[in-house]
Amino acid sequence: MRYISTRDHSIQYSASQAIAQGLAKDGGLLTPYYIPKLPGKALEDIKSMAYQQRAVYIMKMFLEEFSVKELTGFANVAYGPDKFDTPAVAPVRTVDENTHCLELWHGPTCAFKDMALQMLPHLLSASLVKTEENKTACILVATSGDTGKGALEGFKDVPRTKILVFYPKDGVSQVQELQMVTQEGENVGVAAVVGNFDDAQTGVKRLFSNERLRRELAGRGYFFSSANSINWGRVLPQVVYYISAYCDLLRDEKVQPGQMVNICVPTGNFGNILAAYYASEMGLPIDQLICASNRNNVLTDFLRDGIYDRNRTFYNTMSPSMDILISSNLERLLYSLTQDPDEVRRCMARLNEVGKYQVSDRVKDKLQKRFKGYFCDDKETQRMIRAVYQKYGYLIDTHTAVAFSALEQYRAETEDDTPTIVASTASPFKFCGSVLEALGEPSPASGLDALDQLAAKSGQPVPAPLAGLRNKSVRFTQVVEKERMVDAVLSLLE
Ligand SMILES: *Cc1c(COP(=O)(O)O)cnc(C)c1O
Repeated sequence: MRYISTRDHSIQYSASQAIAQGLAKDGGLLTPYYIPKLPGKALEDIKSMAYQQRAVYIMKMFLEEFSVKELTGFANVAYGPDKFDTPAVAPVRTVDENTHCLELWHGPTCAFKDMALQMLPHLLSASLVKTEENKTACILVATSGDTGKGALEGFKDVPRTKILVFYPKDGVSQVQELQMVTQEGENVGVAAVVGNFDDAQTGVKRLFSNERLRRELAGRGYFFSSANSINWGRVLPQVVYYISAYCDLLRDEKVQPGQMVNICVPTGNFGNILAAYYASEMGLPIDQLICASNRNNVLTDFLRDGIYDRNRTFYNTMSPSMDILISSNLERLLYSLTQDPDEVRRCMARLNEVGKYQVSDRVKDKLQKRFKGYFCDDKETQRMIRAVYQKYGYLIDTHTAVAFSALEQYRAETEDDTPTIVASTASPFKFCGSVLEALGEPSPASGLDALDQLAAKSGQPVPAPLAGLRNKSVRFTQVVEKERMVDAVLSLLE
């Protein structure tokens, strides 16, 4: 299968080139030329498989250059018992007859980023061999919390990779900071940047385009790469769990063969919900895709009006992984709906120049047939955490709560009772302060003590990777000014 740029059909790569490069030369996103269809009895076959085998079956359809043996090796390590705390890997928890929560946070960092970032390093190192790249990949990440830790865990001690993570000194939670500065592994580096997430992100973008640094690193045997969700190697592993969830429901006779489901996803960069859309393009019986946003509701407006407008106030919310105004992966959806790289290029140029674009009525109609957008604020997020806990005894995190609110709004508006899979993207323990408050705890403890407080309150154990933070020693203390990030790169690579 060939991979093309969303902005230019004449730019074509193999899967391994697409994964090694991350981004197309023209700034477009590398995307499969077509989405393969699941064969007629695929779901029946996959139903009885373990998660690892399901991953191999589905990924193989997109990665012809990789052998089944190779992919099996990757899946067994990425989703093995050393990494995930349940053999189901991504279990489906039925909340009520029509609502099924797909728990994507059983991996080493307790957020859904693990589902892809445990697999990406295997795909990337194999791609470097296949493309005969003999330099070491130096992966630069700017993070507001979950991606940085997920990437560090995924890439630690992976041959021929180095990973450097920059986080805003005062822009991550205490638990998230501890997760990063205690990171183990020989090939990892972490530095705090004085400033906010934008400063860290802008700084990393400048590093990527710093020609002198690039040459200096090439001399030392490195090239820059990215672990952001624009890399196809991060989207593909996410397609797997939607198909897996449907197969679980089939296996447990909660849906009948062919029966439609809806999928509801708390959305930031549009990677996770895009994966659900691709699963539906492959033939998974999905009717509506419900796109849930927090107060940064740029996607809700886009789905309603067909106008994407990032010129608006940015809010810091209690679901920080969705605090984003430019949803990069939306570009892949636009490509799929228009099949027209010129139209995509025009939209992206407008976004770059004036921060805004409008799609044609034809595209808007297509969008609205498949996607419904809703949003909620922090108060509603906490009400939802409390309501779900009281009604079902089920504890959810702030991001998942935004999805539950969107689903409730959708159902009230449409009276649609189609069974729905809700993507649950983080363990509630990662955001214990907000969750404790939602449950009526007036003064949540600070730092790691809040973990124990939430455990006591909910009667659920603290996930082992978070409980283990107490015994880890701090390895990284470097704090850099945003103008000095080059020095940090050079010193971390020594
Ligand atoms: C990254 C993240 C999201 C948003 O996912 P996208 O793929 O960026 O849309 C939602 N919830 C959590 C907990 C996350 O870490």
